[in-house]
Amino acid sequence: MSTKRDYYDILGVGRQASDAELKSAYRKLALQFHPDRNPGDQSAEEKFKEAAEAYEVLRDPRKRQIYDQYGHAGLEGTGFTGFGGFEDIFSNFGSIFEDLFGIRGNRHGTRGRAQRGSDLRYDLRLSFMEAVFGVEKSLEVEKRETCAVCGGTGCEPGTQPETCGQCQGSGQVTRSQGFFTLRTTCPRCRGTGQIINTPCGHCRGVGQVNTMRRVSVKIPAGVDTGSRLRLAGEGEAGSAGGPPGDLYVVIHVEPHDFFKREGRDVICQVPVSMVQATLGGEIKVPTLDGEKPLQIPKGTQFGDVFRFRNAGIPSLRNGDRGDQIIQVLVRTPTSLNRKQENLLRQFADIEAGKLGSKLKNMLKGGGAKAAN
Ligand SMILES: [Zn+2]
Ligand SMILES: [Zn+2]
Repeated sequence: MSTKRDYYDILGVGRQASDAELKSAYRKLALQFHPDRNPGDQSAEEKFKEAAEAYEVLRDPRKRQIYDQYGHAGLEGTGFTGFGGFEDIFSNFGSIFEDLFGIRGNRHGTRGRAQRGSDLRYDLRLSFMEAVFGVEKSLEVEKRETCAVCGGTGCEPGTQPETCGQCQGSGQVTRSQGFFTLRTTCPRCRGTGQIINTPCGHCRGVGQVNTMRRVSVKIPAGVDTGSRLRLAGEGEAGSAGGPPGDLYVVIHVEPHDFFKREGRDVICQVPVSMVQATLGGEIKVPTLDGEKPLQIPKGTQFGDVFRFRNAGIPSLRNGDRGDQIIQVLVRTPTSLNRKQENLLRQFADIEAGKLGSKLKNMLKGGGAKAAN
C-alpha cells in the first residue's frame, strides 16, 4: 500500500482532467490490459487493477477531493483500501464495465459454466437520528434465487436434460463461410450443450425464480448520505453452481428540522431574547442526547457561537463523537406592552448620552478614523 503510484500518473492524465477524460483514459487502459486479452500475464493484471482502482477513486468527486488533498493516506480513512483481486474488481465494477463495454458484470462468457450472481443495490432512507445512532433495518429485496423445485437445473424433477444434437454437447458449432471457419455459440442450446425437454413447471426451465426476501441489516452509528454497506452473498443467485452476488445498501439521510450535519459536527441555531443576550444567563439547548443547559455570557452578540464538546456525531471508524456547535440568534421583541416600552424609552434616554457623544465624534472626524 505504501508504494502506490499516483492515480493521475497511472491514468496518464493531468490533475484537472474532466470526467470524460478520466473515463476515456481508463477505458483505453482497461481494454489494453484486460485479463481476457492477456491471459496469465502478471504485469498486465497488475496494471489492470491499478487502473481500475485509480478510476474508481477519481470518478467519485468526494474521493477525488480527499485524494487531491491528502493522497493515498487520506483514502485509508474512508474505508477505501483498494482491491484484493479480480473477483473483487468485477464485483465492485459491474456498473463501470456495463458502462464501458456494454456488458453485464460477468466475464465468464457462455451459459452453462458457473456464473456469479449479479450484485444488487438497495437505496435506504434513514431519519437523521437513525443515521447518527445506528439502527437495525429489515429490507424487502426482490432477487433471483435458485429454483427450489428443480434445484436450478431447469428440468422437471425426475427428468434429465438431453445432450444437444446440434453441437453434440460442446455448446459451440463451426460454420464454414468461404475460406473462413467460424466457431459460434450453438443456437439450439445457446451454449449449454443440453436441451431441456420437460422444463420445470415452477421456474419454466430457467432454474431461477424471482423471490421477495427479507434481509436484516445493522446500520452502524455515524453513517451519512452516500455511505455504502456491502452484504456479502445477499445478491442474486449464481447460475450453474456459481456463487451469489452481493447486496449493496446505499444510505440516504433525511434532513432534520433543527440539526445540520457538517462532518462529525452537528450545528444548530438557538433563538435568545434581546434581554437574555444583554444580561447573560442560562438557556436550554436541544442536543442529540436531549436538552442541555448552556450559560451565555453578558453581552452575547447576534451570531455568537458556542460549543458542546463530544456531543456530535460518532465516527464510523472508532465511535469518537464530534462537537455540537450552537449559534445564538438574538431576537428583537416585536410586541411590547406599555410598561415595557416605557422602560425601554428610559433606557434609550440613558444610552443617548453615550451614543450621542460618540456620534458627534464620528461626524466631526468623518469616516473610519473617528469610529474608535
Ligand atoms: Zn425449477
Ligand atoms: Zn447445442
